[in-house]
Amino acid sequence: MPKKEEAKPKEEPKKEAPKKEEPKEVAPAEKEVAKPEKPEKAAKPEKKKKPDKKIHTLYKVEQDKVSRLRPTCERCGTGYFMADHGNRYTCGHCGFTKYKRAENGHV
Ligand SMILES: [Zn+2]
Repeated sequence: MPKKEEAKPKEEPKKEAPKKEEPKEVAPAEKEVAKPEKPEKAAKPEKKKKPDKKIHTLYKVEQDKVSRLRPTCERCGTGYFMADHGNRYTCGHCGFTKYKRAENGHV
């Protein structure tokens, strides 16, 4: 059979230093068991700081101007903000989803 050449780069096996086989010495049994250190607190997952979800975060006030930071739903009209989901906006009222990439044209 011809040798199969794989496209994958060959991974060299990790070279490990050859272990010297030491003669087994009968060491005195260590009776002192190291006590594990007490955990400072019960392991609680650290609370992640969530972004502020309050309504005022949707507006930006500049002097006497108010600008909305979220787009409004095209179906529901003004007054219905769309939630920012990173790559898309969605309307919680009607479920309309607007992808941010769509602004560059159809994909
Ligand atoms: Zn809507």
